Amino acid sequence: MRTDILGVAFDNTTMDEAVGRAMSLLEQEGPHLVVTPNPEIVRLAQSDREFAGLIAGADLVLPDGVGILYAAKILGRPLKARVPGVDFASALMDAMAKTGKRLFLLGAKPGVAEEAARRLAGQHPGLIVCGTHDGYFQEDAPVVQAIRAARADVVFVCLGAPKQEKWAAAHGADTGARLFVGLGGSLDVFAGQVERAPKGWQKLGLEWLYRTIRQPSRLKRVAKLPLFLCSAVGARLKGK
Ligand code: UDP
Repeated sequence: MRTDILGVAFDNTTMDEAVGRAMSLLEQEGPHLVVTPNPEIVRLAQSDREFAGLIAGADLVLPDGVGILYAAKILGRPLKARVPGVDFASALMDAMAKTGKRLFLLGAKPGVAEEAARRLAGQHPGLIVCGTHDGYFQEDAPVVQAIRAARADVVFVCLGAPKQEKWAAAHGADTGARLFVGLGGSLDVFAGQVERAPKGWQKLGLEWLYRTIRQPSRLKRVAKLPLFLCSAVGARLKGK
């Protein structure tokens, strides 16, 4: 049973459970899809039916961001844990490194995925990064072919939402890969281009505040969070 948060149904799972489920999806023919919605993405899904349908049909829907956890509490159906996309990806890579699974990195500006691959191979000994491609391509076929030729098991698809989920739905089956994980700007983080908040801030659920202080242009995005929580209050009062 999934937990509905303002129209998006989330898996109520811990990090370990999510990674275990993802690894078991790798044992079955794909393509499977993992999505990691934050409040911005939930709002996007409210106005994009195709995207909402893709999320509803995804194999794992993980709550990225404290905003989702607050909304869940307000709605009276608290979730077990926050499962941020970047942390889920890291834990999944550890599990993949132990089992010899092959990872393809797709997305971000030219050069970023290669740099991410270099760093990730150092951080997850044994991890096989079988290929990379930037996210600013005009034709899909060469990208599909590159993933197929690399014999990827998992693709981190980092084109921003909803583009990445729509791309995986349209082309995933042709690549032969079994699992697609939509991870937004994570390659920029893995490549060291975007800094994550120190652990203490992350633990307090204040990563959004840290990132806004460092990058004030994010303020517009963050300013929508109170609105999101207000709509959770509204939904609760209406008994939804
Ligand atoms: N991006 C891409 N191709 C595109 C548009 C965006 O590869 O056509 C990349 C962009 O370079 C960035 C990521 O997608 O690395 C989106 O990052 P953003 O922070 O907007 O995503 P979020 O993590 O908020 O979902």
